[in-house]
Amino acid sequence: MMDSFIHFYSTIIFLSVLVLINTQSDPLSTLESTIISHGGQVLRITDPQYKAAATLHNRAIQTWPELILRPATHDDVLLALLTLSSLRIPIRIMGGRHSYGGYCSHQGIVLDSALLKDLKIDWETETITMDAGIIWDDVYRVLNGTEYVIMGGLCPTVGVVGFTLGGGYNAMYSRSYGFASDNVLKFKVALYNGSVVTASSEINPDLYWALRGGGGGNFGYVLQMTQKIHRINETHMPNGQFTFLNITWINVDIKIALNNWLAFLKEVADNDIRISFNVIVAVNGESNFLMMYCSFNGPSIEIDTVFNPWLLKDPKPTFNSMFNYTQNDISRVLAIPFPVVNREHVLSAMAINITEAMLDIILDFQPNSTADVGSWTELIYLHSATKDKNTAYAFPDISFDIAPGVSWRNPDNDPYAIDMSEKFLQKLIDAAAPTKSIVGAYLNYIDPYLPNWQTMYYRHHWDRLREIQTKWDPTWYFRFPQGIPPYNQQSNAYKLPNKNSMVIISSFIMLVWFY
Ligand SMILES: Cc1cc2nc3c(=O)[nH]c(=O)nc-3n(C[C@H](O)[C@H](O)[C@H](O)COP(=O)(O)OP(=O)(O)OC[C@H]3O[C@@H](n4cnc5c(N)ncnc54)[C@H](O)[C@@H]3O)c2cc1C
Repeated sequence: MMDSFIHFYSTIIFLSVLVLINTQSDPLSTLESTIISHGGQVLRITDPQYKAAATLHNRAIQTWPELILRPATHDDVLLALLTLSSLRIPIRIMGGRHSYGGYCSHQGIVLDSALLKDLKIDWETETITMDAGIIWDDVYRVLNGTEYVIMGGLCPTVGVVGFTLGGGYNAMYSRSYGFASDNVLKFKVALYNGSVVTASSEINPDLYWALRGGGGGNFGYVLQMTQKIHRINETHMPNGQFTFLNITWINVDIKIALNNWLAFLKEVADNDIRISFNVIVAVNGESNFLMMYCSFNGPSIEIDTVFNPWLLKDPKPTFNSMFNYTQNDISRVLAIPFPVVNREHVLSAMAINITEAMLDIILDFQPNSTADVGSWTELIYLHSATKDKNTAYAFPDISFDIAPGVSWRNPDNDPYAIDMSEKFLQKLIDAAAPTKSIVGAYLNYIDPYLPNWQTMYYRHHWDRLREIQTKWDPTWYFRFPQGIPPYNQQSNAYKLPNKNSMVIISSFIMLVWFY
């Protein structure tokens, strides 16, 4: 009797201790050990993999997170969201790390998709299902040698989800097949509270609408998405090849060359969606440079008839080369090494047309000769891109994304380089004002300094997007400076609990460690 009494009480004491240990165990530590036990990673500044994992494409916006969580399973992403949101610990979602505004990172906890790499192609339905950690390079490699293309970016290291949520144009094919966001059939989305939902035209259509162009980092964490792929069948070439022209003018009267091009667009290309252009204009003192990447998604036998009347005009191109490329070839030819060592500031003006007054401004975009800053303007031709008009992307009517950029190395030049490009954008907008040619800015070229960014990025969609955010993320857990706030939310609801000192200490350790 005495024995069973002692046994009973010792069991009670043992269980109480267990409960005490459990309730006192830090949920963040439990989360970290769960992620690690399922093949994921937890990276702090002292880990050898930390620096490569935290490095952003653009050095000008680099921040170093206190902690990077890399779950290896969807369930662990859900657990991370449930744990962190109930602790009211803010996060950022990290994909391919190409956000020009650096919104995939901050000084707190980052939930990084890098290990979520599942990818499946269904040839029958001509669709591909991709996890959040897939970058375009992963997709181009598996499609290479087939007759299929996908609406991905020219830069192979951009993340598929971040790209698609902002709209996602492919400068070579979007006129034929639409934007990435037009091609998504289904999203699998993790919500702030760790639950998971599907968004498609039939299930949760409001979320589906918002995710197609409403921008990365809002609404929820996209775990996976299914997109259409397209068979290139009009070029009559093997393996999904099409004609790629590289047409370059150096030190000619660049305004005449650009006007000839604009006339060609009006007379021919506007009505022929097989033709696409990505144009780079760089003017520097006495020298100038105009380079056009052009794709022709039709039989090469037609090339001379289509292009010669324009290309034989003066000034004739300095170089004019033609290649048969696959999508994978193009991404290799145009690949921008990642991580780049430069600092960058890239902007966007969504334009219905390019007027003479706008051309004059574009041709005057050059840094002060003593500044060690390079500048260029990219003109992406998107006239009549095959767009689904029922998405959150707000610019089905534009013909060009005019994207000025500057690049420099010395951090001392940050204020000058950023100021010069922001002033350029304002001058361009002013020049376009009488003709109402510029109607906004492209969300994928997100600009932390853009005034009126709500209407510039979203136009008339702003209120609807806020309503959808209110429904799916009512506490505004997925938050960043240019994110979409739900109604009735204070902007400072989430704060890092007592973490500021950690940030200062970790920044100090980082400085000592790196340099
Ligand atoms: C060199 C270069 C070339 C580019 N070329 C093109 C182009 O041809 N066409 C084009 O349209 N754009 C282009 N872009 C812009 C690019 O599409 C955007 O910067 C895009 O947001 C990058 O996505 P990411 O995943 O690589 O970046 P990240 O910085 O990791 O993410 C971008 C945003 O999406 C959010 N996000 C990432 N993953 C998820 C997820 N799983 N769920 C929810 N939110 C998420 C992040 O929090 C962040 O706010 C280019 C950018 C660069 C730097």
